[in-house]
Amino acid sequence: MASAGIVNIRRDVDDKFYRYRMPLLLTKIEGKGNGIKTVVPNMADVARALSRPPTYPTKFFGCELGAQTSSDDKNERYIVNGAHDASRLRELLDVFIDKFVLCRSCKNPETDLVILKSGRNEDIVRDCKACGERTDVDMKHKLVTFILKNPPKNPKKSKKGGAKGEVNGNGGGVHATAPFVPGDEHGGGSGGDSDDELTKKIKAEAAELTTETKLAAQDWSADTSPEAVKARVKALESQVGGLSLAPAGGLGDDEGSDDDINSPYAQFGRWVEENKGETGVGAVQIYQKAQEFGVEKKHKTVLVLVQALFTEDVVQEINVYKALLAKMVTSEKHQKALLGGIERLVGLTHPELIPSVPKILMALYQIDVLEEEVVTQWGTHVSKKYVDKETSKKVRKASEPFLKWLEDADDDESE
Ligand SMILES: [Zn+2]
Repeated sequence: MASAGIVNIRRDVDDKFYRYRMPLLLTKIEGKGNGIKTVVPNMADVARALSRPPTYPTKFFGCELGAQTSSDDKNERYIVNGAHDASRLRELLDVFIDKFVLCRSCKNPETDLVILKSGRNEDIVRDCKACGERTDVDMKHKLVTFILKNPPKNPKKSKKGGAKGEVNGNGGGVHATAPFVPGDEHGGGSGGDSDDELTKKIKAEAAELTTETKLAAQDWSADTSPEAVKARVKALESQVGGLSLAPAGGLGDDEGSDDDINSPYAQFGRWVEENKGETGVGAVQIYQKAQEFGVEKKHKTVLVLVQALFTEDVVQEINVYKALLAKMVTSEKHQKALLGGIERLVGLTHPELIPSVPKILMALYQIDVLEEEVVTQWGTHVSKKYVDKETSKKVRKASEPFLKWLEDADDDESE
């Protein structure tokens, strides 16, 4: 149910759950004769949704139409000389988005424009937050000169902090804040090698899955039939125990209100549960789905993922999805959420797996998503954060052989 005047940033994506949205560009003709001009009253809002200065699309229109433009940032007034109808400018905006916003590799709009200088040479690239690729823009386009003269002010984010509460899921309206979420600085973060691994995997899968966004859209539209919706609600009700995000008291986090069944986390979890067995749904699709919900960087997503994705074959599955785990488990907090998910999986959903806890932890340790200090700390402190106290004890007790092994391995090293 798209609100009036809100459209997908990629208008070729016909998916009402597509999370990158912007206001529909509006126009107003003013003046007459030689002085006739087209005002874009909501250019500032449109540009904000695209995370570009409003001057860029304005100037772009000028370049494409051979018209003078004027931009007044202070009063948020953006004008193209001449009379141009809205549909033409919207088409041109699509072209602008394609050329200067969307990642050329994965078509995600979450990119920054970065100017790379080497000697006298300057190149403008789109630095993709989603897949990590840097893809260049058409340096022959006239807008390039303007961008080089008026470089984007990329917000410098501190690594810690500032990343809280920026995403409110797909709650409605424009993602005034969502698409350009902080998080890692350019390619930085603690991902390191794991990024490369997923990038490789994405490239490998991309060849076969160039239409995956479309596929995702189809999946969603199929899911919105009344029967499907009913089935989902039903399935959901039976799983509330499994997927509910926290026992009373919640996670004690800043993300509290997301625990309800319509939170992006729960929606993501349901999607994973429903689609994980489908052919073609692999790590890349799962990651992209998390991105659509804007939760791919959240530790809570890891908690949900573990519960939704893994089954009694968890040890094998850890290896199957190691690139995905490496991509998503990016901090100590994420590791703790990972362990929380495992606690719920073996403690609540698959109690028969309790004896396998050491194997599971070993598998996670071996793919480098679990650090010794974190798992040791976890194993020696009973917590009611994710499960009840008894279960928590049981799981930790079961983990002892692994912790012992870690300790011994340490001793060996120091000798
Ligand atoms: Zn990308």
